[in-house]
Amino acid sequence: MKKLYEGIHKFQESYFKKKENFFHRLSKRQVPQTLFITCSDSRVDPNLVTQSNPGDIFIVRNVGNIVPPYEAIKDKNSVAAAIEFAVIGLKVKDIIVCGHSNCGAMQALYKEDKDFNSMPHLKNWLKIAMPVKDIVKTFYRKRHGEDRLRTTEKENILMQLGNIQTYPFVKQLLKNGRLYLHGWYYDIATGCIYTYNPKTDAFEKIG
Ligand code: ZN
Repeated sequence: MKKLYEGIHKFQESYFKKKENFFHRLSKRQVPQTLFITCSDSRVDPNLVTQSNPGDIFIVRNVGNIVPPYEAIKDKNSVAAAIEFAVIGLKVKDIIVCGHSNCGAMQALYKEDKDFNSMPHLKNWLKIAMPVKDIVKTFYRKRHGEDRLRTTEKENILMQLGNIQTYPFVKQLLKNGRLYLHGWYYDIATGCIYTYNPKTDAFEKIG
């Protein structure tokens, strides 16, 4: 915790002081243009990798950057609540689903049931992404180890892009050209970010 307390002090003394007016304006309202859905992984930092400021992106983080299909979780679906607020309330223009390399959640899809004995909620949550494993096992049979994991991480992004389109208001806005979807893949070791191009059916490097 010491590091975090020191960080708060440093933030207030340097960063905040230099941008005091900006934070004062920001306190009145938020107008983010983008909903950014990504993994809870501590190595993934949406603001850092996009060099964006507070107020720029509305972020939803969970284990495995999963979007439960509209009808999947009837009650207390925090992801659905955030999507409603960002899309209907804040009227974001773009939604990014950003997966990443070395994702523990995607690795966990291949674990055995007994590995989750002490983590029933995690087991239940990951069930939503289980179809990804089936896709990889069916269409990428020859991929193993790291190769299979990279494929799983990318296929998961595509599945979540599909899931978000089960939200009726998202579907409608996409149809009207008032909302755009993006699938991003962040490679931790290289710092590169790739975006899914549906025309080439491939993730292409940004920048
Ligand atoms: Zn992850």
